[in-house]
Amino acid sequence: MSTTTDEGLPPGRETGRRPASDQGRPALTPAQARLRGQLAIGARSLSLGGHDDFNQGQVSARLPGSRTFQIKGALTGFDECRPEDVVPADVDPDAPPHRLAPPELALHQAVYEARPDVNAVVHSHAPHTLVFGATDLTVRPVSHDGAYFEERLPRFTLTSNTILDIATGRAVADALGGAPALLLRNHGGLVVGKSLKHAVVLAHLLERACRLQLMAEAVPGGYHSSSAADVEAKREFIYGDLAVRSYWEHSVRGVLRTWPEAVAW
Ligand SMILES: [Zn+2]
Repeated sequence: MSTTTDEGLPPGRETGRRPASDQGRPALTPAQARLRGQLAIGARSLSLGGHDDFNQGQVSARLPGSRTFQIKGALTGFDECRPEDVVPADVDPDAPPHRLAPPELALHQAVYEARPDVNAVVHSHAPHTLVFGATDLTVRPVSHDGAYFEERLPRFTLTSNTILDIATGRAVADALGGAPALLLRNHGGLVVGKSLKHAVVLAHLLERACRLQLMAEAVPGGYHSSSAADVEAKREFIYGDLAVRSYWEHSVRGVLRTWPEAVAW
C-alpha cells in the first residue's frame, strides 16, 4: 500500500497532519526521542520569538559526535512543529534524504561536517536579522545581545537564494568559520550552538541584537555602545552556560503556557 500521494506528501496532510514516517529506519533511542521532543519545543520557542515565515526555516540537532541528526520536516512551520514532525538526516550529503527532509538540508549537513563542536543549527528568516543582513552595518554592542555577536557575525553574500546544494552549503559553512552565527544577505540568519539550548537561545539573541541596533541606527545623533571590557564581562556572565540554560528554561515555560500539550514532549 502506498504511503504517499502523487505529490510525494503523506496522505491527509491537507486536512490533518500525520506523523512523518522514518521509512524503515532504526527505532529512535531514548536519547534521540528526547532530542526530537526538545526540537519541537525549540521550534515553538522560535515561533514565539518571531522567526516564523510560513513553513520555512529549520531547526536541527544531533547527539554529540553523531554522524546523523534530526531536523524539522519540510512541511511544518515552527509554530506547529510536533516531535513527530521532526525527521532523521545524515551528515553525509550522499545519503538518501528522508522524503520530508527540507530543501535546505544541505546547509545543515555542511555546517555539521565543518564544525564538530556544533550540535544544533537554526536557520530562519527572522525579519530584523534579515533586514540587518541586507545592510552593510557591523553589529555593535548596543545591547547585551549585540555584545555577544560583536566581531563574530560574518555575512554570506554569494547568493541570496535558498541553499539547495552541498557546494553552496559548504560555501556558507566557510563563511561562518568558527563564528556562532552568520547573516545570509537578503535571506535570513544562521545560528549554531554546542547544544540545542544554545542554538535556540542565540537565535533569539541575534534577532533582538539586530532589532535593537536597527532602532538605534534610526535615532538622529548616533548612539553609544559597550566598552570592550564590558563586552568581555557580558559574554562571561550574561551568556555563560548556566545563564543560557536559564534562558532556555524560561523559553520552555513560554512554550508550555502557549501550547500546554508540549509538556508531554
Ligand atoms: Zn532559508
